[in-house]
Amino acid sequence: MKITGTTQAIGIIGYPVEHSLSPLMHNAAFAHCGLDFNYTPFAVEPQQLGQAMAGLKALNLRGFNVTIPHKEQVLSYLDLVSDEARQIGAVNTVVRQEHGLVGYNTDGIGFVESMRQLAQIDPAGLRVVMLGAGGAARAVAVALAKAGIAELKILNRTVDKAQALARDVQRITGTPTCGEIWQEENLRQALSGADVIINTSPVGMYPHHQTPSVVPAAYLQPHQLVCDLIYNPLETTLLQEARLAGCQVLPGWGMLLYQGAVAFKLWTGVEAPVEIMQKVLLDELHERFRK
Ligand code: NAP
Repeated sequence: MKITGTTQAIGIIGYPVEHSLSPLMHNAAFAHCGLDFNYTPFAVEPQQLGQAMAGLKALNLRGFNVTIPHKEQVLSYLDLVSDEARQIGAVNTVVRQEHGLVGYNTDGIGFVESMRQLAQIDPAGLRVVMLGAGGAARAVAVALAKAGIAELKILNRTVDKAQALARDVQRITGTPTCGEIWQEENLRQALSGADVIINTSPVGMYPHHQTPSVVPAAYLQPHQLVCDLIYNPLETTLLQEARLAGCQVLPGWGMLLYQGAVAFKLWTGVEAPVEIMQKVLLDELHERFRK
């Protein structure tokens, strides 16, 4: 790709940032669309976030992604934050607009889009069980509730966090939501009445991908959609067992792809070339996981 005096700079700030798949995905998309944009990673230590934000603003970057550990802290350095990002309490995409730096959260909507586009399922009216109540769970829960799910049950190892997230989701969206401790009997009961099951915990992620599935196969029913936010491995033991049980499955790379597609449109105003981004992403994940 040719970088010239007119090239618009996009970046990602995080710490660490070297494993990010976003530079590959976005640079391939810019090239495919013939856009004069370039995407670069920046490792920003937590104590340097304020200086980095002032620098990004002064350098007039067109926009950037924000990843761990800055997604929450970055809010205080932005000129404007979208309603959804404020409700989630985290920003993963920043765009330079007329009013300054504006923060968005495309993680949750990225998950919902992956459900619609890859699984061909609209979440409206469905009963959802979510395992885990961390940052990714918060984004996905708020986006699903806004997309009109009928009810949400959140099971978490630390029950206080499940209940706090449930209260927030219900207060923000009005969707009936409860939080419970993640233990066997609660899980069995919750899953018996679920249409969609989502693992938002890191259990099953490489290098611990051989650990038993987070859901006993006996609790799964063939009409259910089983999702995992993990994308390394591409198919977790949860998804393998769910597939064997006759369920439809949705791997975590879908959320990664669509959060990127939504961010791409925000920066460029152009519809993202999703097939190109998907190919680059999957080729790289296959390559990395083979090593
Ligand atoms: P996080 O904020 O640290 O939250 C982790 C959650 O998992 C917490 O609820 C935690 O429970 C629970 N948990 C952790 N270890 C557990 C264990 N051994 N047993 C039971 N529960 C456990 O992390 P996050 O940022 O939400 O990320 C969670 C997962 O989502 C990671 O695998 C990450 O790679 C994935 N993710 C994927 C995407 C994507 O685009 N596909 C985007 C973001 C994140 P406690 O509250 O009890 O600690």
